[in-house]
Parts: sequence; C-alpha cells; structure tokens
Amino acid sequence: MNQQRNELPATNGIVLETKDLKKIYMQGKVEIRALDGVNLKVEAGEFISVLGPSGSGKSTLLNMIGALDRPTSGTIMIEGQDIGQMNKNQLAEIRQHIGFVFQYFNLIGRLTALQNVELPMTVKGMNAQTRKEKAIEFMNLVGLGDRVKHRPSELSGGQQQRVAIARALAQEPRFMLMDEPTGNIDTRTRDEVLGLVKKLNDEHNVTVVIITHDAAVARMTKRTVYIVDGKLYNTHEEAIDAEQASRVLNDEKTHIDGGVPV
Ligand code: ADP
Ligand code: MG
Repeated sequence: MNQQRNELPATNGIVLETKDLKKIYMQGKVEIRALDGVNLKVEAGEFISVLGPSGSGKSTLLNMIGALDRPTSGTIMIEGQDIGQMNKNQLAEIRQHIGFVFQYFNLIGRLTALQNVELPMTVKGMNAQTRKEKAIEFMNLVGLGDRVKHRPSELSGGQQQRVAIARALAQEPRFMLMDEPTGNIDTRTRDEVLGLVKKLNDEHNVTVVIITHDAAVARMTKRTVYIVDGKLYNTHEEAIDAEQASRVLNDEKTHIDGGVPV
C-alpha cells in the first residue's frame, strides 16, 4: 500500500508550474490579494529563489506550491499533475514528495539526528535496516556523519539546518522547498548551508526553490524571481518599479533589501 510513491509521471522536465495563481483573503469587506496572478515555472535541476519584502506574498506562495493550502483560483501543477483536482489523501501523498526545509528547522527534539532523517522513510513504510543505511548516507552527504546520535539541542543552528536538509533528501523529493532557510543562523553559517544546497543542486541534480527576503541568499541561487504585492517579476528592475509604484500608494511597505543580484 505504500507502493504508489513512484507513480508520478515526469513531464517535460517541468517540476512545478503555476498558472494565474490567485489567493484572496477577505478582511471584513476588504479584499487582500496575497497572490495576484502568479505564473511560475520551475524545471528539473533548477536552483531558484523567490525574493520579496515582508508582506509580499511569500508565505502564501509557499503554502500553495507546497500543497499546504488551496488557491482562490488558478492552477498548480506538480510534475504535470493538477493538485487542485486532488483530494485530501492525494495532497498528503504529494506533500511527502516535497522536501520542506523551514526557518526553525522543525526537527523533533526527543529523536536523534539520524532518527529525524529516518522519519520520512518510516512514514513510507521502508524497513528499518534500509532506512537506517539511507539515513546514514544522507547524514554523510550533508557532512554530519559524526553527529548521527546527537539530539537537535546538542547541535548548532547550522548543523540543525543540515539535518533538516538531510531529512528533506530522505523524502526523495521532486523538489526541495525552503522557507527562509537561513533566517535563523548567522551569515557565515548561512553561506555554509547555502554552499551545501548548491552542491546538492550541482552534483546531485536536486531541484531547489528557496523563498526568502534576503538578497544575499538570492544571489547564491542560479535564478531569482521577485515578488511584490502578490505579483511575480523576472527582473530586479521590474520589481523595483512595481515596488515604487506600490510605495506611492502605501508608504508603510518595506523595501526589497540589498542591491541588484550579480
Ligand atoms: P510574506 O510571507 O511575504 O511576508 P504573506 O504571504 O504572509 O507575506 O502575506 C501576504 C499578504 O496577505 C499580507 O498582506 C498579509 O497580511 C496577508 N495575509 C496572509 N495570510 C493571511 C490570512 N490568513 N488572512 C488574511 N490576510 C492574510
Ligand atoms: Mg512570510
């Protein structure tokens, strides 16, 4: 009964695609267009960041493409499958194939690092010996082969994030979805963690989507798209124009930080 996991078809190398995606929240009678017609296409092997200021719609987008919440309208395709047509169980199944990495690591404190990495494979019903071997492999891959028995509280922030990355790899993810993955670690550790992610992308062809407000993080990815007021832009210039237009209308908005990515 856990055999369904390899049935997703690979389609044209496109791992993720949204079309005219909208999410509208009602605040009393006021419409908040958290996502306002987002078209995003991610191909297998890409390393992409979505960069935007606070309140621009990043978390909302993450919830949509992570199959955690439903859009108001528009479509989301994951490997060619329209997740809008899926029932609860199918959504839960597809989420098992997304390698989530969160800002606060979300590791289970009473489990060892290795057990945390084993968890997704336990859920999939893999036998104990195989999943332990695989988990050790993933811990080695993230450079923590000597920390398997440590609990999260016995690890640094950067190490915890690397365990979270190993756990995401254990999902055999169609893509890795990282939400402000370096929001909670210092800049040196940030560069180490991003270096690891870059290596996974370069050497193991892991597809990575990072959602962030940090231009320094975006600079380390291979492609950046910008989100301002729920709309996506392909260049920094377009995003700045959109942001300036929006600041004229609403001056409490924060800025897209940092300079032009090089
Ligand atoms: P970001 O993650 O970029 O800071 P969010 O996606 O959290 O932005 O929010 C985008 C916009 O949608 C903001 O104006 C926010 O206030 C609004 N918003 C987010 N979630 C809700 C909700 N559940 N109900 C109402 N408004 C929301
Ligand atoms: Mg957010």
